[in-house]
Amino acid sequence: MNLLLDAALGYAARGIPVYPVHWPRPTPGATTLCCSCPRGPGCDRPAKHPLVRHGIHDATTNPGQLQRWWQHWPQANLGLATGVIFDALDVDGAAGLAALRQLIPMVELRLPGPLVRTGGGGWHYWFRPTGLGNRPPRGLARVDWRGRGGCVLAPPSRHISGSSYRWLRGLDQAPLPEVPAALRARLDPDPSTTTRPGAPAGPNTASHPYGRRVLAAELAALHRATPGHRNHTLNACAFKVYRYVASGVLDDEEVTVAFTTAALAIGLSADETSRTLASARTAGLANPRTVPAAPGHRTEEAGS
Ligand SMILES: [Zn+2]
Repeated sequence: MNLLLDAALGYAARGIPVYPVHWPRPTPGATTLCCSCPRGPGCDRPAKHPLVRHGIHDATTNPGQLQRWWQHWPQANLGLATGVIFDALDVDGAAGLAALRQLIPMVELRLPGPLVRTGGGGWHYWFRPTGLGNRPPRGLARVDWRGRGGCVLAPPSRHISGSSYRWLRGLDQAPLPEVPAALRARLDPDPSTTTRPGAPAGPNTASHPYGRRVLAAELAALHRATPGHRNHTLNACAFKVYRYVASGVLDDEEVTVAFTTAALAIGLSADETSRTLASARTAGLANPRTVPAAPGHRTEEAGS
């Protein structure tokens, strides 16, 4: 039995996309460990970078693909895509924990969710997904947030130090909690900077109420899709919505996350979903559609 493959299949069964990552292997003299990649001892991210070309974009919940990968690389570490089933708070050693303690009252810090001790001497606290991307919580040193588009290594991966990632509280021991309010406040975009002239638009600022209604309607249509029609429906619904992204009515990332989450929830694979969404996005962005002008006559969409 391969414990790494077993673990990969276990994460995938929970809907968490998995991909293979380089692992620590003994150096020729066998005194220390180095990265399994061709750079070996010269690697600057030893045992932490993907074995597959597109990294987390190749992550999948497909058991057959996971079996093929771990047959090919039986010792590969486990990379998990965050932002789909869970987000992770990445606390780097004692310094990170001290910073976190100053922010979050002890009662809240006794975070009840799943908790990983990393092979590098840190901790990963798992939470329900927030929809946020990767970002360091404001004002917290040595603490990071892994959300949409991010990844973490998971047990029983091995760190370059030789220590394994291990569960302090497993996924069966604790449900995923919401992010504590004090931490969430440090993760949300800072209003004093997002309103600065010239600052890039933050998430949601592009979303027009009409666009959000279109998005909700198309997500509902996807949810109703019957087996055999799901991939086609995803393509058709996402195409319609990306047309509004093209005209600035909806936020690109928000739409992609919403469709990814919905598609995985109805049983499409991560592979299929990302391919179909990429194609719908390209087509939609090439065909911008704007909010219908409706002055003077009532439409369902014109209300708030
Ligand atoms: Zn390497």
